[in-house]
Amino acid sequence: MIDVDMSATSVANRYVRVRPGSVELVTEPPSQPPLPGPGEALIDVLACGICGTDLHMWHGMRLPPGAQYPVRPGHEVAGLVRSLGDGAEGHGIAVADLVVLHPIAPCGACGTCRSGAEQLCPNAEVLGIHRPGGLADTVSWPVRRMVAARGLAPTRAAVLADAVATAYRAVRQAELPPGGRACVIGAGGVGTNVLELLRIADPSARLVGIVGRASSAQRLASAGYDAEVADDTVHRRLRERFGGFDVVFDFSGRPASPRLGIRLLDRRGVLVLGSVLDGDLVLGPATAIQTRELVVRGVFNSSLDDLHSVVELASSGRLDLSGSVSHVRSLSDAVAAFAELDARPEALARMVLTTSDSVG
Ligand SMILES: [Zn+2]
Ligand SMILES: [Zn+2]
Repeated sequence: MIDVDMSATSVANRYVRVRPGSVELVTEPPSQPPLPGPGEALIDVLACGICGTDLHMWHGMRLPPGAQYPVRPGHEVAGLVRSLGDGAEGHGIAVADLVVLHPIAPCGACGTCRSGAEQLCPNAEVLGIHRPGGLADTVSWPVRRMVAARGLAPTRAAVLADAVATAYRAVRQAELPPGGRACVIGAGGVGTNVLELLRIADPSARLVGIVGRASSAQRLASAGYDAEVADDTVHRRLRERFGGFDVVFDFSGRPASPRLGIRLLDRRGVLVLGSVLDGDLVLGPATAIQTRELVVRGVFNSSLDDLHSVVELASSGRLDLSGSVSHVRSLSDAVAAFAELDARPEALARMVLTTSDSVG
């Protein structure tokens, strides 16, 4: 438990602001803390991850309907509840709780929401895209989209919100058979957690990651995973060692990876697409899919239930997050952190920014 001075009347107010080609840290003079809206809580951010989507926005990604530049990014947030707005009581969240924010606030009323696919809600607001995000000192968000994460280290709790919960959903959707063979292309921020969650779900599963660099292979090897560096012969090497795969996950963000995934699959295999990819999907010859009855399945973010599940796995100690965060930087250095991340540093899993230099 981390103490926060609730008697403070003024609050530092820094936030990251992104528009195409520009990222800056805005500092406003200390002022009264903003009041959370109805049903919302005001959070003192402790840690917030930087996701590939944040870099995509810096590079001018087209925003979803209802959003416009400049954006205040950050959708992977852990922090302490400072205050509750009207009607925010009764959700099991109290002042001073460490919470993780689910990054999507669906309407809860449309057909998509009622069918149980809340993260696909066409009316949803996304934290750090439609609404000011958590690469900031404070953030307001609906309390019904928060999960208490008492006892977890803030930097690790933060990545549960997106990098881990998305991985959890991908693993659930893939339905790997017992003792099955799975390959994860792009074992970075999300992919590393896919491997970890597959191992928890079935210790007898045969797992391998495909990574871009030797340093990433080294990082996976030290976490006990088999890894191969992507090159011209990786397909042949994996075929020799594994035969075909039951499931291939692509979280690489590289246009060539889906086609490699199709080539690696065994008959009736499943390709799970989790990356944000600009442009068209290239899968190779149509017969490669049709004559082997392959399935291509997209996964997008996670549900609140998925987030509850990974918080529980982490709190119980079953989910080891030690390999999930590779770089911790300070919010004060946000601009440099974006540039560092954009250059794809060695052995990258996730970069997390903290609001205080002392938070672990
Ligand atoms: Zn993200
Ligand atoms: Zn909805």
